[in-house]
Amino acid sequence: MKSSSDLIPPPGAPAEDLARAADDFGHIVGSRPLGVLAARSADEIRDLVSFAGPRGLPVSARGGGQALYGQGQADGGYVVDMAALDEVRCVPRDRTLVAGAGALLRDVVRAALAEGLAPPVLPDHLGSSVGGALSTGSFGAASHRYGAVTDWVRELEVVTGTGERLTCSPERRQDLFDAVLAGLGQCALIVGATLRLVPAPDLVRRYRLYHHAPEPYFTDQRRLAQDARFSHVTGQARPALGGVWDYMIEAVAPHSGQLPHEDELLIGDLGHDRDTEEIEDLSYAEYLHRMDRDERLLRATGEWQRPHPWLTLLLPEEAAVSLVPALLAEEAQQGLRACGTVQLRPLTGHTLRTPLLRRPAGELLCLLSLMRTAPPDHPDTVRRLVAANRALYERAVAVGGVLLPGGALPMLPADWRAHFGPVWSELARAKRRFDPYAVLTRGYRLWP
Ligand SMILES: Cc1cc2nc3c(=O)[nH]c(=O)nc-3n(C[C@H](O)[C@H](O)[C@H](O)COP(=O)(O)OP(=O)(O)OC[C@H]3O[C@@H](n4cnc5c(N)ncnc54)[C@H](O)[C@@H]3O)c2cc1C
Repeated sequence: MKSSSDLIPPPGAPAEDLARAADDFGHIVGSRPLGVLAARSADEIRDLVSFAGPRGLPVSARGGGQALYGQGQADGGYVVDMAALDEVRCVPRDRTLVAGAGALLRDVVRAALAEGLAPPVLPDHLGSSVGGALSTGSFGAASHRYGAVTDWVRELEVVTGTGERLTCSPERRQDLFDAVLAGLGQCALIVGATLRLVPAPDLVRRYRLYHHAPEPYFTDQRRLAQDARFSHVTGQARPALGGVWDYMIEAVAPHSGQLPHEDELLIGDLGHDRDTEEIEDLSYAEYLHRMDRDERLLRATGEWQRPHPWLTLLLPEEAAVSLVPALLAEEAQQGLRACGTVQLRPLTGHTLRTPLLRRPAGELLCLLSLMRTAPPDHPDTVRRLVAANRALYERAVAVGGVLLPGGALPMLPADWRAHFGPVWSELARAKRRFDPYAVLTRGYRLWP
């Protein structure tokens, strides 16, 4: 390995690359780096980190740029743009897929489906990078059965904060593996990952089931989280006439397209409004890409480019039943009716195995995501919404809830210590060992 004094500083970057690296999907925080490395190899990343570490210069990775509050920025340091590390290779024999950290999940899906396979869990939107999804955690509509995206990783290739290129897995350097998955980029940057796959169905049937009150919705969500009748279950609260909210479950089951489908068996005992149910058959590829259309629409209306003060919380299910309807009735959340999406998702504790991916105690959990769009050029409104996120976060913590890191929320080191709770000292130990200069991914503000 070269010594850090042999390394030459990475060149600066064109102004537009610096501006891009100082922005993210949140469009709220903007910290300008000194330079941007458009990485083409793990060695280039190793050299950059070896140069920056001893000099105390921050280094952060950028994948799909979907961070919401500057978590991937590097104030006065270097952003490693992972986009060119996008190679994806499916190994059907092993049911695995080897991906560069900059590959987007949509590239992963394309390569896996070509072999009749798919990752068991995928987030709804496929625009995040492999490295971004694995460093934060990432849940999807199949999470009630298969946990988080991080629960399906066989091996990682990383560059640590000491500039070492290492491979880790549950069998090899497990301490590093556990410190990297959902580790918020604190100990290493992910260069590549081997993901486990499962057979993919060709066709699925999608049910959209509307409930006009929260109680029957949560009763159904609880039931569907616990039995295996649907492969995918997610939900939304949707504004209804008269200032109230409807609750929709979107549930999906594979189907052959041959035999008459057993709709009654799947939805006959649920408590939704039978007159408004929607049933539709889709190819699995169409289903997995279901957000592409929304993205096109939001880009066309300009909402995609506006500030996104989003917040995602994991709640104990019994707390969600009262907290969700109560907060949706509050004045502070009324903006969500016009410009936003309220997502709900059942999760089950026993499927979540990634040590650093924190979750509430108990088996039945509910993910709540408030995905709001703020008007452009209204910094006061954005500040107010971020403050509302902070207030809601504190309420959620008081009832046993946990943050899904990555939201538009100011966090202090003491908050992070409480967030990681029993695994904090493990993470702190790994940080001292693998990133002793504390230069990696400072945007989360984990350390004083
Ligand atoms: C429209 C939309 C829909 C979403 N839907 C879901 C969903 O359904 N479920 C869900 O769980 N989440 C969802 N998310 C959240 C998203 O998956 C996470 O924010 C994810 O971390 C984004 O990854 P990225 O590569 O796009 O982001 P980036 O902004 O590039 O990175 C996010 C964070 O990961 C770090 N990072 C990126 N690459 C690496 C790497 N190679 N090594 C180490 N650290 C790295 C960055 O430094 C930053 O801190 C959604 C976000 C958006 C904008």
